Amino acid sequence: MSQNKVDVLLVGAGVMSATLGKLLAQLDPSLKIVMVERLAHVAHESSHGLNNAGTGHAGYCELNYTPQQADGSIRIDRALEINADFEVSLQFWSYLVEQGLLPTPEKFINPVFHQSFVWGEENVAFLRKRYQALHKHHLFEEMEYSEDHAVLHKWMPLVMRHRDPKQKVAATQVKHGTDIDFGFLTRKLVKALQKLPNFELKLSHTVVRMKQHEDGRWHVRVKDNHTKATRTINAGFVFLGAGGGTLPLLQKSGVPESRGYGGFPVSGQWLICRDPRVVKQHATKVYGKAAVGAPPMSVPHLDARIIDGEPSLLFGPFASITTKFLKEGSVLDLFTSLKTGNLKPMLAVARDNLDLMRYLVTEAFKSHKDRVAALREFYADAEEQDWELASAGQRVQIIKGCDKRGGKLEFGTEIVTSRDGTLASLLGASPGASTSVQAMVEVIERCFKPQMRTAEWKRKLKGMIPSYGESLDENAALLHEVRRSTLATLRLDGSRRAG
Ligand SMILES: Cc1cc2nc3c(=O)[nH]c(=O)nc-3n(C[C@H](O)[C@H](O)[C@H](O)COP(=O)(O)OP(=O)(O)OC[C@H]3O[C@@H](n4cnc5c(N)ncnc54)[C@H](O)[C@@H]3O)c2cc1C
Repeated sequence: MSQNKVDVLLVGAGVMSATLGKLLAQLDPSLKIVMVERLAHVAHESSHGLNNAGTGHAGYCELNYTPQQADGSIRIDRALEINADFEVSLQFWSYLVEQGLLPTPEKFINPVFHQSFVWGEENVAFLRKRYQALHKHHLFEEMEYSEDHAVLHKWMPLVMRHRDPKQKVAATQVKHGTDIDFGFLTRKLVKALQKLPNFELKLSHTVVRMKQHEDGRWHVRVKDNHTKATRTINAGFVFLGAGGGTLPLLQKSGVPESRGYGGFPVSGQWLICRDPRVVKQHATKVYGKAAVGAPPMSVPHLDARIIDGEPSLLFGPFASITTKFLKEGSVLDLFTSLKTGNLKPMLAVARDNLDLMRYLVTEAFKSHKDRVAALREFYADAEEQDWELASAGQRVQIIKGCDKRGGKLEFGTEIVTSRDGTLASLLGASPGASTSVQAMVEVIERCFKPQMRTAEWKRKLKGMIPSYGESLDENAALLHEVRRSTLATLRLDGSRRAG
């Protein structure tokens, strides 16, 4: 390894590390940055195009972001936050496209209408209420709603074909929704970094150990997977962007902030169809309602996707039980993550989530026929032979201690940083890649405090993210300005359809 003493060590070559690396390199080109990845390729775990759903999560179609309360009201705060965070990603990607640091937007982000679709009296009432609550807010003002079969036939012909005309149905639609090939995006971010003299990428290298020395710097032991030789990288700042591999590394770091965290891995599978006869009939992302007992990220959806330029349809995800933290991980991952500090929360979560375990085991034993039956609720004419099973990425949900029950399972993401700001890590997987830019800005704010106080860094961040420091949730005029600009730069404003 040519650089043993670096300013920044990025562990993992997924969308998070790539985004943090690009932001930091823009803020201070003199920073020496090394990225270490255990696999032989960039973005081959969760950030790979086929390992995630590629939905530009903005809260438009994902019903799990707007839960119904006991009093019947709909909570929209999480949807507002995710929407505003996604706008931050759009601004950064627009900046990179304008600077020629990312290729034309068609290569990684595509306009795909985001729709929610439900059936049955109760679900229709929920969706209507959700629409009424969201539509009033400027972030969601373009959302449309209908219960009319004729309108829905136009919005989602494949889904409505051969549906009982008496069935009570409802849908919402947002036209500037997106499908994103996060794998392509990550590879291009890393490619842009590789053009810089102060950046180095080490593929097929695994971080095996790390220790902080008295001077505050981290000595990180890295193994070459081919030769098995190990070397130490001396880093001023370490980011653990190892996806499912983050928790074990955080535990190895020994920082007190890591105590009490555990992980609950969930694997996923898709039904995928590449037959152009079928693919050309569906051009949107249609999200439904999660089954009772299902984890929130198991909302079924039928998606038009473009991965590496190839159009396909994806249905799922079908969640399943696993003990691996990474797709290319070990079945021992879950067991080796058990420590005295997290045993209590882990056991409490196992005790309190029997419904979830039961659901995951049932899903694991589903046959192809069963999965296609689930698909037929969305696409009545689906033929078994047109669809094949593909495995998605792993998600490691966060488990942490709590006073009341001893431990709780969380479905979001959490940034854990050491007190001195020399180490940061990202746990959890939702909303994920879509909000990677806001998450990484938060890492910078927490770990580069002196630099962030300077006018230069503030000015540079504002140049990359024009809304930086202001609230898109509260400032409607700013949102309108920013959205007009990003939709035009990324050509998500209908200009592609117009030719
Ligand atoms: C089924 C599914 C559907 C999803 N759908 C969406 C979606 O529609 N929209 C969305 O925005 N997000 C979605 N996500 C979430 C999104 O994919 C993730 O949040 C995001 O890709 C995480 O990026 P990352 O860089 O943290 O991790 P990863 O992309 O997993 O990268 C981590 C990297 O670290 C490497 N690594 C691990 N351990 C080590 C080590 N010890 N040394 C060196 N390298 C190491 C791994 O090999 C890997 O390449 C989905 C996820 C799943 C699983």
